Amino acid sequence: MLKIHQKYSLRNNHTFNTDIVSDLFTEPASPEELVFALRHTSDKGLNRLLIGEGSNLLFTSSFHGLVIHPILTGIKSVDESGSEILVKAGAGVNWDDFVASCVKNNWFGVENLSLIPGSVGAAPVQNIGAYGVEVKDIIDYVEVLDTSSMNFSMMPNHACEFGYRDSIFKHGDPDRYIVTAVVFRLKKRFEPVLDYGNIKKVFISKKRQDANALRETIIGIRQSKLPDPMETGNAGSFFKNPVVDQSVFQQIEASWENVPHFPAGKDHIKIPAAWLIEHAGWKGKREGDVGTWPHQPLVIVNYGGASGQEIFGFSEKIRQSINETFGIYLEREVTIVS
Ligand SMILES: Cc1cc2nc3c(=O)[nH]c(=O)nc-3n(C[C@H](O)[C@H](O)[C@H](O)COP(=O)(O)OP(=O)(O)OC[C@H]3O[C@@H](n4cnc5c(N)ncnc54)[C@H](O)[C@@H]3O)c2cc1C
Repeated sequence: MLKIHQKYSLRNNHTFNTDIVSDLFTEPASPEELVFALRHTSDKGLNRLLIGEGSNLLFTSSFHGLVIHPILTGIKSVDESGSEILVKAGAGVNWDDFVASCVKNNWFGVENLSLIPGSVGAAPVQNIGAYGVEVKDIIDYVEVLDTSSMNFSMMPNHACEFGYRDSIFKHGDPDRYIVTAVVFRLKKRFEPVLDYGNIKKVFISKKRQDANALRETIIGIRQSKLPDPMETGNAGSFFKNPVVDQSVFQQIEASWENVPHFPAGKDHIKIPAAWLIEHAGWKGKREGDVGTWPHQPLVIVNYGGASGQEIFGFSEKIRQSINETFGIYLEREVTIVS
């Protein structure tokens, strides 16, 4: 029988580490239990919130309804062709445990996504990405429960409408699909992706140049730049890197020197949000227990006692300041739960 907890503290279920309580909380461990939890919310007219490991969420108040944390586990190879292997992982598997398992089994292609916090089930939701690889590059299909029909189905890669930190699971009706498992198309041969930042330099300095060394390289770089949520509450990059019209970029370039930028489709330019935040004077800034991380201003941190409201208020001040300074309204990467 699926246990439903009452007045449940979510402090250990999200990485901003604020003290938030949910009226109800449950952890379905099978597809049947997941269906039971959903039926429970519709029968009782309850709000529901689906969470993984809470590493991309900011709660601004207690949650009135049922928080569902699926713990569907398992990693196994499901098919094999000449040079590729299909590997299935349950939505509740920790993302980095999945990466470690792939590296151990010589299933290649996922090394650059080492140490991203969170669950396998949430990985396709915002199409996680780092160091030149996005998860959409290695997803074959996603298994979902469609809550509009209560049917389980398979969504091939193209149906997921992946974009930059975006997918059909985030835009449109974000509550419709629940990811139950993800099937990845991985390689049997190690083909490292090294052309991002200083990965290549660190990687070739390692004793052996194998997948494990690449994983170690990525972990080392990430640990030197990003706060560990176990020590300092945060949800990674708070904002997306904005993509602007060429004309907007030219206006910024006329007033600022050496603006970093990357082409992003016809007449569009991507500007690193970290650069904008730093040049608007927010790098390392702290107000009470909220601040930007000194090594990476795109990350907003809770130094201990900040509330969700305070973190949200601080983030809105940054947004307003970037708008006033550069005429760009930053879009959040973190999901706000209010
Ligand atoms: C220190 C740090 C570094 C980070 N670095 C990166 C990075 O390099 N690249 C990157 O892309 N992200 C990064 N992130 C963000 C975060 O790790 C990812 O967004 C991750 O995929 C969130 O997983 P989660 O299980 O914690 O999801 P949650 O935060 O619990 O949920 C995120 C969203 O997904 C939905 N969701 C969760 N599970 C499911 C499911 N099974 N089915 C349908 N919807 C679901 C939730 O409803 C919510 O809307 C970082 C975060 C931290 C704290």
